[in-house]
Amino acid sequence: MDTYGAPLRDMRFILDHLVGLDGIAALPDCEAAEPELVYSILEEADKFAAGVLAPINKSGDLQGCRLDGDRVVVPNGWQEAWDQFVAAGWLGLSLPAEYGGQGLPKALWAPVWEMWFSANLAFTMLPQLTLGQTEALEVAADDAMKALYLPRIVSGEWSCNMSLTEPQAGSDLAAVRMRAEAAEDGSYRLYGQKIFISYGDHELTDNIVHLVLARLPDAPAGIKGISLFLVPKFLVNADGSLGVRNDVRAVSLEDKMGIHGSPTCTMAYGDQGGAVGYLVGELNRGIEYMFVMMNEARFGVSLHGVALAERAYQMALRYANERSQGKVAGEAGRPIAGHPDVKRQLLAMRTRIFAMRALVYPAAAWFDHARHHPEPDVAARSRRYIDLLMPVLKAWNTETGNLVCDDAIQVFGGMGFVEETGIAQHYRDGRVTRIYEGTTGIQANDLVSRKILRENGATLRELVADIRADIAALAEMADVADVAELARHARVLANNVDDLERATDFLLAHGSTDPATVQAAAVPFLHLTGLVCAGWRVAQAARAAQSLLTASAASAGSEASATSGAPAAQGAAGGQAEDASYLRGVLALASFWFATYAPQVRAHADTVAASACVGLAPDAALWA
Ligand SMILES: Cc1cc2nc3c(=O)[nH]c(=O)nc-3n(C[C@H](O)[C@H](O)[C@H](O)COP(=O)(O)OP(=O)(O)OC[C@H]3O[C@@H](n4cnc5c(N)ncnc54)[C@H](O)[C@@H]3O)c2cc1C
Repeated sequence: MDTYGAPLRDMRFILDHLVGLDGIAALPDCEAAEPELVYSILEEADKFAAGVLAPINKSGDLQGCRLDGDRVVVPNGWQEAWDQFVAAGWLGLSLPAEYGGQGLPKALWAPVWEMWFSANLAFTMLPQLTLGQTEALEVAADDAMKALYLPRIVSGEWSCNMSLTEPQAGSDLAAVRMRAEAAEDGSYRLYGQKIFISYGDHELTDNIVHLVLARLPDAPAGIKGISLFLVPKFLVNADGSLGVRNDVRAVSLEDKMGIHGSPTCTMAYGDQGGAVGYLVGELNRGIEYMFVMMNEARFGVSLHGVALAERAYQMALRYANERSQGKVAGEAGRPIAGHPDVKRQLLAMRTRIFAMRALVYPAAAWFDHARHHPEPDVAARSRRYIDLLMPVLKAWNTETGNLVCDDAIQVFGGMGFVEETGIAQHYRDGRVTRIYEGTTGIQANDLVSRKILRENGATLRELVADIRADIAALAEMADVADVAELARHARVLANNVDDLERATDFLLAHGSTDPATVQAAAVPFLHLTGLVCAGWRVAQAARAAQSLLTASAASAGSEASATSGAPAAQGAAGGQAEDASYLRGVLALASFWFATYAPQVRAHADTVAASACVGLAPDAALWA
């Protein structure tokens, strides 16, 4: 049975010791991040994810979506789930309070949405679209548009989608051709086709707000001539009531490898005279506004990576403890989890998931600091860090998440390859996460060109200085507590950082003279950056676990308490108690990370340094 339960303990550990909930709660407008409240929200979210969303995940996959005339029909159970999701207030959780949301900090948003994505990615893509569109409208729309649309979007009465892609314009949005013509009343008429539009149409909400990239006939060529338009499915009267159906409709649905419950639509605009659209913000600034929603969406997709990996891991762990084959340590009938190779795979999965989560939750907190921190320097640095690492979060987490799902199939053996067990769905659903919201190759280009070369590596070096400070703190603690393992981690991480700097120097040295080599190096560089940053967070987790264990041992000693079993270690925030066996588990994950994944950094750095071999390879190398 493919059930789901949120990994609350890991979530809390990372929130307490890596994010620092107390620090978030101390920010203006973030008081709601008070730890006890956060824990109770997480527990409620877990119940909703497990009880409402997870049970319709497999049926949604089997049933899929269909086009009935020009109506898009989504799987059974979707309507009830949407209604409950909205009624319980989950949609508004992190949406702006000004428009009826609860405006909770992003650091809390991250674990809650991870749960939704784990439980049912295909369903959750719909509410996720609301987040990005809300932010784009907040930034770019005028007051009248905000007042008319945002309260109804935030309340869940209406939903949104993101309409960028066209047949000739996927990664390259400069090639967008959708035509917008000015009408006499100040609105526009849109003509053309969009493809691959998630939730482009459905009947779950009364209205759908399409945010569409299009260009005016006399607009400048390329990226600088694209504008953003709001196109409602039903026209909206001044009082918010709905008018006639607009000239936009789904004309086909993609037959996909996964996320069958999410309708991926080809949308036709203007077949019957022109779709009425309204300019969002200023003409020709569409790409800039689009990046607001893309950034939000990319952050969400980084959580897809963690979420599907978690779901697959939970299934694999259960299966490995139920299935027996051969003899484990000479004894027949024991579960396969006892075979060292199966245990290695399970440990590999859990370590990678822990590292992904440890990377992404503190990044969510950077959003909160960027938006709310009273000290401008701290806010600005947080913004720089999130901008720098966004492509890494999106691409490294989804690439790693896919690897975890692949391992889960392997643990199931032959039953992993048949659909009956359900594990294949997570593998299939997860594959697209490396593609949509910009492929891994596009994220890597963004990292290297816009984030490293354009600013001569300045923010990366700033981040590296922070990592080095943490390495020094880890080494010092290892010394004081006399823990050789932690001292080893500090040395390995220091070498990893040296490799990152070496690879960065290589990019900077070749940036202006040999762009082809730099682009060939981009994906290995992204993997290397992901591994170093995740390793940094794993090292922080190890330090926190060790310090809790040391403090707990000291207090047990000083009180000379003769309790049996492991003493509880006090958490940093909210009095969350960690038991010693959990903390030793965290230390074991860190040891596995530094033994297994940290060494991969050197290989990626060497690949970066050897990237010229891609350009030097003759075309003949690609033919048999
Ligand atoms: C299930 C699903 C849902 C989607 N939902 C939406 C949605 O809601 N709204 C929307 O607008 N779009 C959506 N998309 C579209 C998605 O964003 C695009 O598929 C994606 O951006 C890649 O574009 P493409 O498919 O045209 O691939 P292409 O751009 O043709 O890329 C093909 C390959 O070439 C590589 N490549 C291309 N250009 C470069 C370059 N400059 N440097 C290096 N490598 C390059 C890519 O990395 C990729 O490996 C969705 C797609 C899918 C599959």
